[in-house]
Amino acid sequence: MRVLRSLLASVDIILKPRSFVGPAVVSRRGNSSAATKDENVSRVLVTGASGYVASCIVNELLTKGYTVRGTVRSLSNPNKVDPLKSLAERTPGTLELVEADLLSPETWKSAVEGCSHVLHTASPFPFEQPKNAEEVVRPAVDGTLSVLRACKEAGTVKRVVITSSVASVGVYHTTRPLTEEDWTDPSRGGPEAEPYIISKLMAEKEAFKYIESLDDKDKFEFCTVLPGFVIGPSVANQAATSLDIVKRIMVGGDPLIPNIAFTWVDVRDVADAHIKCMTLKQAAGQRFLITDKSLTYRDVCKQLYDEFHDQGYSPSLRLAPRLVIRLMSLFDNAARSMNLVWGVVTTYDNSKMKNVLGIQPRDCRQGLIDMAYSLIENGYIEKSPKFKGRKTS
Ligand code: NDP
Repeated sequence: MRVLRSLLASVDIILKPRSFVGPAVVSRRGNSSAATKDENVSRVLVTGASGYVASCIVNELLTKGYTVRGTVRSLSNPNKVDPLKSLAERTPGTLELVEADLLSPETWKSAVEGCSHVLHTASPFPFEQPKNAEEVVRPAVDGTLSVLRACKEAGTVKRVVITSSVASVGVYHTTRPLTEEDWTDPSRGGPEAEPYIISKLMAEKEAFKYIESLDDKDKFEFCTVLPGFVIGPSVANQAATSLDIVKRIMVGGDPLIPNIAFTWVDVRDVADAHIKCMTLKQAAGQRFLITDKSLTYRDVCKQLYDEFHDQGYSPSLRLAPRLVIRLMSLFDNAARSMNLVWGVVTTYDNSKMKNVLGIQPRDCRQGLIDMAYSLIENGYIEKSPKFKGRKTS
């Protein structure tokens, strides 16, 4: 049952205040040689910098030579800080790390100060849906508004990019591909009323409303990035829902798998999308779905099975019987949601991503394989004695 819950939570799916302690410069190696840097960007704030998606964005920014300020909840947590420091050592950009918490509005003023651009990715993405929706909704919504208010007060911010999610356009439809014109309707119930989905929907809606409410003199540009379920190599190798789902498949954590589908996207394309949304003039004011293709969970297991079953890993290919889910749905909310999306393949229109941002998505099936290899090589998934390494490179 746990996997069913976690998968629902991850149809695309924690917290302690701390005071700001000021920028801690962890790398300053100069960036004059970076060719692809946009000179209008003087300093980029990346919130939740140690997260799976954000650390990949930080890596891209540093590689391009940008000056990046990343927020973490605690500078004294080496698991979160050290991987970022090591990215900074290998790249031409400059990285500062500061403390800030979505639940502590006062921490954002100093974090934003002096930044020209803000990429707001921090938001809880737990493996399982919390019983109390407020645990995810409050930091997502209040935190987003705190970041935006700090941007207004700072007066230096030109553009803010917020990481939303396909969860904010809808998660189960069959009649047509969903587009940026769509918004999730929690009154449909099922997965669209799950706490994580609501957290993403409300945070994005409140953000647009806040920007709209600003006087012209206070306005800054704003856009949102809406990724599908993110897979692909992790640069920080820290626990995250995306990594945990792939690990679970690889070790055969669920003998019976659900007949459900997601839209998938490579983390490198998601990072690219954030940077394009930060710099491209034409991206301002818009939402962008960032997806490759929709695949069933079994397709994903099969992809990993074909690459890894002779290397000591055991992704399951056996579908759970529908009847079991129907019976469980009589008394379990997660099973009820699962029952609603059983066999449904929702698709998303990624033409804006291609046409406006100029991103041709990587094949997410290769992204899954690259991710599994990186997780094994970095020790997130235990190395099997039969592991031979990449078949192609
Ligand atoms: P991670 O869990 O790896 O990253 C989430 C980040 O948010 C972490 O850095 C976490 O900090 C930070 N965070 C959570 N709560 C707080 C808080 N109260 N104060 C400050 N920071 C906080 O998840 P992902 O990288 O996967 O997700 C990043 C963003 O992308 C999220 O907005 C998520 O909704 C969105 N997204 C993710 C998808 C995916 O499939 N991975 C799909 C679509 C959207 P800490 O490390 O201290 O916990």
